[in-house]
Amino acid sequence: MQRIDEVMDEVLKRNPAEPEFHQAVREVLETLAPSIEKHPKYQDYALLERLVEPERQIIFRVPWIDDEGKVQVNRGYRVEFNSALGPYKGGLRFHKSVNRNIIKFLGFEQIFKNALTNQGIGGGKGGSDFDPHGKSDNEVMRFCQSFMTELYRHIGDMTDVPAGDIGVGGREIGYLFGQYKRLTNRFEAGVLTGKGLGWGGSLVRTEATGYGTVLFAQSMMHTRSERLEGARVVISGSGNVATYAVEKAQQLGAVPVTISDSSGWVYDPEGIDVELLRQVKEVERGRVSDYANRKKGAVFNTKGNVWQVECDVALPCATQNELNEDDARTLLKNGCKVVSEGANMPCTPGAIELFQESHILYAPGKAANAGGVATSALEMRQNASRAKWSFDRAEHELTMIMEEIHDACLATAEEYGQPGNYVLGANIAGFERVADAMLDHGVI
Ligand code: NDP
Repeated sequence: MQRIDEVMDEVLKRNPAEPEFHQAVREVLETLAPSIEKHPKYQDYALLERLVEPERQIIFRVPWIDDEGKVQVNRGYRVEFNSALGPYKGGLRFHKSVNRNIIKFLGFEQIFKNALTNQGIGGGKGGSDFDPHGKSDNEVMRFCQSFMTELYRHIGDMTDVPAGDIGVGGREIGYLFGQYKRLTNRFEAGVLTGKGLGWGGSLVRTEATGYGTVLFAQSMMHTRSERLEGARVVISGSGNVATYAVEKAQQLGAVPVTISDSSGWVYDPEGIDVELLRQVKEVERGRVSDYANRKKGAVFNTKGNVWQVECDVALPCATQNELNEDDARTLLKNGCKVVSEGANMPCTPGAIELFQESHILYAPGKAANAGGVATSALEMRQNASRAKWSFDRAEHELTMIMEEIHDACLATAEEYGQPGNYVLGANIAGFERVADAMLDHGVI
């Protein structure tokens, strides 16, 4: 569609050298033509041009002192992309690969994901090129305090509500919240999510993204009268999302047989021991090789990757572009029938094309991993009403939200004549909610 090509050309021109951002925008724009043709109003008021331009981008210096007394300097980012549906909401990523391009791609995805949750949250993302690997607790604390000393003036429970992502878990959210509270003299619980359970956190937030990804896979399988029970599941990553994807898959009777990190991957044919995984990763902050050293029958590999393992279901839960066309071919050859993305944009465009051509069940991250941010919104709801829900209640709400997202994607794909196309369904369902609100608000 010419209109969409023009917008994409402008994005390429105005955002040079930002390949992941281009990839994320292209992936959404490519699917919007049927919606824009049906509703010509979406061509008015430069709606698409405004949608691809962040409302605000903040970049700042983060100086801190390491344990040797040496001054280190990192760069901090917060991209406040779209607030049409509510305060900006999205995680903070601490990883050495973080730059403006990465934060913009994540922020853009977050707009549609958050819209799909129907929880009244806009889209944003932030982070730093700080690498927490090998840093002491005190170094992480000093970094977080310096990061928040700038960020605090830009966030608030009605403005922008960060949470965790790669490299940012409970420890980091604790240090960030402590510094926010100190600087503002306000116990504003709703300013961050993923908080500790003793001071405003919600039960199930830790588990939510991984649980949600598996629940989404299950909902997709039900549309073909297939079951997760007994399925062999291949999972990448070994962090927050991967760990709780393993746990939920096991609860539903499936057998997850792999985990990975940036140094290699583990094949554990009997099924991953989630208690051992949590001990190694969350308590000892170790590597997947430490897991393999302690688990009988588990093998640690540095060659190849998890996608070469025969499976029924694949759950990429590590990072962007971690599953390419060759990996997709291998998965399909080995009989994989379901791919549900726990990570953000883990499959390359070529891999997605192959999944779609072969008509297996494929769910994009903005739908399948939305359980994390949805439960963050539930945490905000509890903070606002000073309530504390039971685990069962929070999990019930998460399950309902995942079903609603699944059904919205499916119904939208059908409405536009592409039944079973979860990519088109997720993009258009999210887009129309955001676009309608943007039109209501006028040109801002
Ligand atoms: P964690 O930091 O807890 O874990 C990340 C895992 O992925 C680690 O095992 C890490 O290994 C691995 N990994 C990260 N980068 C790379 C890389 N470049 N190459 C190979 N392995 C890598 O992060 P999360 O589990 O929270 O996040 C995982 C994914 O899920 C991300 O894409 C994130 O954006 C997405 N997501 C997270 C949500 C959440 O609630 N946490 C919500 C929605 C999406 P290593 O330690 O070696 O780096």
